Amino acid sequence: MASRANHRVLLRCAVLCAAALLCSDVTAVSAAESPSATPVAASNFPIASAARLAGDSKQTRFVLDLDKTIQFRAFALADPYRAVLDLPQVTFQLPAGAGTGGRGLVKAFRYGLVMPGGSRIVFDLTGPAKIAKSYVLDAANGQPPRLVLELEEVDRTTFVQSLSVESRPELRPAIAAADATDAAVPVAAFKPAASADLRPVVVIDPGHGGIDNGTQAGSESEKSLVLRFGLALRDRLEKSGKYRVVMTRTDDTFIPLGDRVRIARNQSAALFVSIHADALPRREGDAQGATIYTLSDRASDAEAERLAEAENKADAIGGVNLTEEPTDVADILIDLAQRETRAFSNRFARLLMGEMKTTVRMHKRPLKSAGFKVLKAPDVPSVLIELGYVSNKGDLEHLVSENWRSRTVGSMAQAIDTFLAKRLATAGAAN
Ligand SMILES: [Zn+2]
Repeated sequence: MASRANHRVLLRCAVLCAAALLCSDVTAVSAAESPSATPVAASNFPIASAARLAGDSKQTRFVLDLDKTIQFRAFALADPYRAVLDLPQVTFQLPAGAGTGGRGLVKAFRYGLVMPGGSRIVFDLTGPAKIAKSYVLDAANGQPPRLVLELEEVDRTTFVQSLSVESRPELRPAIAAADATDAAVPVAAFKPAASADLRPVVVIDPGHGGIDNGTQAGSESEKSLVLRFGLALRDRLEKSGKYRVVMTRTDDTFIPLGDRVRIARNQSAALFVSIHADALPRREGDAQGATIYTLSDRASDAEAERLAEAENKADAIGGVNLTEEPTDVADILIDLAQRETRAFSNRFARLLMGEMKTTVRMHKRPLKSAGFKVLKAPDVPSVLIELGYVSNKGDLEHLVSENWRSRTVGSMAQAIDTFLAKRLATAGAAN
């Protein structure tokens, strides 16, 4: 019972902590805009210096060494089975490869930022397990402060019952609060700048981020490659002054897939462009070049299907409870809007291919479609671009080259110009 009481205290702390995060969220965003403020704040975050697993497939213990005690929240998620630790923003200085190997009930774990001010550790479990205990120990006997998570094997029924209301994740507190006030905008930065600004909105969506690294090639991770690209595209588009450009993320933060779609919809975006850089399992050969994807219920080929599956896993990777995602409204109006939107998405994809192929190496079949969750806004034309394969040496050289990036950004900006000029002309004629 003592651990139960502890749990309650922790939960109460977590609520306070979440409230603090909510407030710090806004300040963190404005602080990020003034470059000098960020490094100062970064040095104050607790540091996690080591992590270890002990035990067996019945009971497994995870220990994280810290430089100060922290408040946290622990909860479990089903399908796939995961355990999640939500922490205040932590600077992870764990050895390279930490979390890739498992032990006992833990297959592997990931860690990183899920929002400004909030970090998360997600454990992939081998099967249903309950969080038997979770606590923070003060420094003692030459040991640093430690966060301890104890997992115990249970059957599925017990596991599902243990997902009680109080242990249900609120996902990101900022999102929960925004949803509650019916203004489903994750952070202040995503609010429209001014209602008087009638320029079309282009949403650029650098894939992955924070706890979700995307694909990895040596020291280069997809999340940072696509962020650099997205920011360059933003700068190029903003220079023309014709559009208002909204980024789904401008730093190394995790954004759930549903939120990316929500940002595009809340902004009544004229176009949504998601940026990724794929990798191919070795056995599937050595594909190369850029590919442009649109949404389809049926994948255009096996590779497109595999890729959509991989990209759709982002929420599970980031510890978002998939069962809590609102189900799509099956409505005839949405269906009609979707059909029109898909026609526009396909038109943009073809335009984009036409522009890109003059400057960039394209995949041998550059236009494909599959069920990407991030492309599901029923009213915003959306495409997902895989810039190239980080698993291909030549593509990777391009992806990290500033010259290549600049040329590719140029051809994409050209395609966006052509697409939106036509759309706006048509819209104007209709009025
Ligand atoms: Zn990706």
